Amino acid sequence: MIVMKFGGTSVEDEEAIDRAARIVLRRLHERPVVVVSALAGVTDSLLAMSRAAASGRIQEALKSLRLLRRRHLAVLDALGKGPSDSVRHDVQTLLDSVQDMLRGVAALGELTPRTTDHILCAGELLSSRIVSAAVAQHGIDAALVDSRECIVTDANHTNAVPFFEWSDERLRQRLQPLLLAGRVPVMGGFLAATIDGIPTTLGRGGSDFSATIVGAALDAKRIEIWTDVEGMMTTDPRLCPHARRIDVIGFDEASELAYFGAKVLHPATLIPAIRKNIPVYVLSSRQPESKGTCIRARAPRSRTTFRAIAAKAGMKVVNVKSMRTLGANGFLRAVFEAFERHGCAADLVSTSEVSVSIVLNSSHPLDGLLGDLAKLGEVEVEEHKAIICLVGKDISGRAGIAASVFETIAAANINVHMISQGASEINIGFVIEEDDVPEAVRQLHQRFFEMKPSSRAARLPAGELGMQAFSQRISARTEVG
Ligand code: ASP
Ligand code: MG
Repeated sequence: MIVMKFGGTSVEDEEAIDRAARIVLRRLHERPVVVVSALAGVTDSLLAMSRAAASGRIQEALKSLRLLRRRHLAVLDALGKGPSDSVRHDVQTLLDSVQDMLRGVAALGELTPRTTDHILCAGELLSSRIVSAAVAQHGIDAALVDSRECIVTDANHTNAVPFFEWSDERLRQRLQPLLLAGRVPVMGGFLAATIDGIPTTLGRGGSDFSATIVGAALDAKRIEIWTDVEGMMTTDPRLCPHARRIDVIGFDEASELAYFGAKVLHPATLIPAIRKNIPVYVLSSRQPESKGTCIRARAPRSRTTFRAIAAKAGMKVVNVKSMRTLGANGFLRAVFEAFERHGCAADLVSTSEVSVSIVLNSSHPLDGLLGDLAKLGEVEVEEHKAIICLVGKDISGRAGIAASVFETIAAANINVHMISQGASEINIGFVIEEDDVPEAVRQLHQRFFEMKPSSRAARLPAGELGMQAFSQRISARTEVG
C-alpha cells in the first residue's frame, strides 16, 4: 500500500480537489490511503474566529464562520454531478457544531488549548468528508475514516505527541480490512485524539506527520506528500531565482531542512518514515508527472558541496552571561532548565564557559523566561535575527568548507552574530540580521550551487525584489490547510 497526502492548496477548491481525485485514480492499483489537510487557509480562519469569540467579538467570529460555510458548500455544489444530500448534511452539522463551540467560547470569554483543538479539527473533518465524496465520484470506493479513532496522542493540546504503538495498532485494525476489501480510506490529517477520545492536533502543518504515522503503521511502500511546489528546493525560490529541485535527499539532511525553515514539511514528518525506512516523496499536484523529491535513507552523493540552504527568519537571540557562582555545568543546566520550564525550544545554541547564546523563535512570549534567566546572570535579547543553515552530508570531514561559507558571507559585507555546526556534521548554521537574508542566500547559492557564478551574478534581481518576497514569506506560511 501507499499513503497519498494532499496539502491545503492541493484541496483548496473544487478544481484542486478534482485534480487530487484524478491523481488518486491513477494510483489505485497501489492501494492508497488518502490523507488530506483542510482547504487552504481554513485552519487559520478557524483559529482567528476562535480568538475573536474569546475576546468578545462573537459577531465577527460568526461572520467568518458564515463565509467558511459558504465556501465549503460552494465546493460541494461545484463537484461534478453533485454529491448526495448526506454529505451536505454532514458538512452542515460539522459547521453547526463549530458555531455552538464559538458561542461557548464567547460566553466564557476563554479559549483553552483543548477547546482550540475541538474547533480546529473541523477543518480536516470537513475536507476529508468532501474529498471522500469527490473521490467516490470517480467511481472509487472511498471509505471515510475518522482520524480521532485511530491516531492516539498525549494531551498536549495544539501540539500533541503521538503514541506510536497504540496508533499503529488502531490504524491497522481500522485500515487493513478496508484495503483488503479494495476500498480507499480517506482521512483528515492533523487531527487525532487522546486515549480518552478528546480531540487533539499535531501542531501546525501536521498533516504531513499524520501521513507518515499512517504509512509507518501499515508498512507503506511509499509515502507521497502532494503539495503546490515541485519538490524540496536547493533554497527558497522566492529568495533566489536560481533555486532548483532536489532529486534525492537523505532522511537526515531533509530533517535538518525541515527544522531549519524549509516549510515544505512539518519537522516531525520524517520520524515515522525513518523508523520503518519508508521513502517519502514530495510531489506537485499541479504537475503530477514531474519527478518531485525523493527523501530516503541513502541518497547518492550530491554533485554540489551542500544539498540545500535554508533560512529561518523571525528569530531572537538570548545571551546570558553567567555570574560565575554556579560553575560552568551548573550554569548551563540552570539555563536549559529555565527554557524547559517555559516551554521554549532552542533552535541554535552556542556556549562558552561563562556565557551562552540561544536562538529561538520570536513568537514565544519571553517575559517569564527572561525573569528566570535574570537570576542566573546578565541577560540581553537581540531581535530581528535569522538563521541560515547549509545542509549536506558530504561536508563531514572535509576541510575548508566552513571557511568558504564565511568568506562568501564576509565578501557580501554581512555580519555574522553566532555560528554553530551540528553534532551530526551535516549542517553549518549561523545567525545574521533578518534584512541580510536575501543577499546571504543568493550569494551562498551562487557560490555553492551555480556553475558560472560571475555571469549569473549580473542577472540577479536587486535586493529590493528579494526582500519583498522574503517579508511575505515571514508573514505567510505556505501549504497549510
Ligand atoms: N490544516 C493544518 C494547518 O494548517 C494542518 C496541515 O495543513 O498540515 O496547520
Ligand atoms: Mg504542510
